Amino acid sequence: MKKAPGNSKYVKKLNRMAVINLIKNHEPISRQQLAEITGLTPPAISGIIRELLEAGIVKEVGLDKSTGGRRPIKLSFNPDAGYVFGVEVTRFETFVGTCDLKNNPTDFRTIKIDMSEPKKGLKKLAAVVKEIMNEEQYKEKPFLGVGVAFPGLLYAFEGKVKRSINLGTSWDFFPVKQVLEKEIDMPVFIENNSKASALAERWFGGATECRDLVYVNLGEGISAGVIINDRILQGAQGHAGEIGHMSIQKDGPLCNCGNRGCLESVCGIPAIMRKVKNEISIIPDNDPLKKLWAEKGEISIEDIISSSRIKNSYSHNLLKQVAEYIGKAIANVINFYNPECVFIGGKMAPAAKYFIDIIKTAVNTHAFPEIARSTDIQISSLQEKAGVMGACALVLRDLFKPDSDILEDVQQALNYEEA
Ligand SMILES: [Zn+2]
Repeated sequence: MKKAPGNSKYVKKLNRMAVINLIKNHEPISRQQLAEITGLTPPAISGIIRELLEAGIVKEVGLDKSTGGRRPIKLSFNPDAGYVFGVEVTRFETFVGTCDLKNNPTDFRTIKIDMSEPKKGLKKLAAVVKEIMNEEQYKEKPFLGVGVAFPGLLYAFEGKVKRSINLGTSWDFFPVKQVLEKEIDMPVFIENNSKASALAERWFGGATECRDLVYVNLGEGISAGVIINDRILQGAQGHAGEIGHMSIQKDGPLCNCGNRGCLESVCGIPAIMRKVKNEISIIPDNDPLKKLWAEKGEISIEDIISSSRIKNSYSHNLLKQVAEYIGKAIANVINFYNPECVFIGGKMAPAAKYFIDIIKTAVNTHAFPEIARSTDIQISSLQEKAGVMGACALVLRDLFKPDSDILEDVQQALNYEEA
């Protein structure tokens, strides 16, 4: 039995996405065929198509054969019709960007937002997103959705955070999708940052020919996005890929997760900064890092990375050791998953580039020889944009869905309406 078309805003949006998808998958297609496939009423379909035509997302491309009455008008998708918005959240900086519907990046910006308080942080983020969307350059075409790459364990389907070790306990169970959708008035998709980056690498980076890959995100935290047989590996609760909490040092530093000696507690940016601050007094005065410290009175991770290029300097020795641990961790990961390639990205990627030989040697030493030999390890070419491009890809992935998933969405929207 066909149900009445939805009139709540949410249902309308879900149905609108579903109709765009079906047109993309079956173009050219008529309104009548869309109504038959979705179970939505002809007036509901006509209403949605009117909006999509006005927005330029869909175009009329001629007439179909007559099946008795008037010849139906055929519709097709216009890939140049709009944009998607991507966000990558970190503790102090949020990266935002836009892509066209082929995921070509059209914008990338870094915004300082303190994300220790979810409500405050997301309110500011929503304001930034709306401001950018209203800029002159974006006036002509619509935005179709917002993707969010988020650091932490998620209930990605519900758009909720389970726990974010890097952002703090105030994010536990916080409904990011719900809050942002209310603020921005647009569909929001959320995924763990490393998983989103892996998706960007697969679709738009160095892995377009590669169905099995691992993206290792080296930043404040350390985690991996694993794609096996062209699907993001989620795990039973969606938490697969937490390699930052691989145990690498017996009785090592205390980790935010509560254990000791995790990879992240030794090789994450906060751990590196902490070690440098503790040891600064014993670094010789002629060391390049100590000189920077004397000059500026403070040190950033960029300073440590840049001075690590000088052989035998404090930073060089420190990051060399970090690279050995990272290599060992990658050896474990490739032993588990046997990917074709591993991409190293995140804020520490420039350092990984200087020490790539150390990383590769550690991989060769610790991984199964046949696997190590056949795995290509490289630095991500998407650099700092991987998270944002992955976030944009989340929206596009929803736009490029297979029919079975689309119809499930329509059904869900209709049930939602009835409940
Ligand atoms: Zn840990």
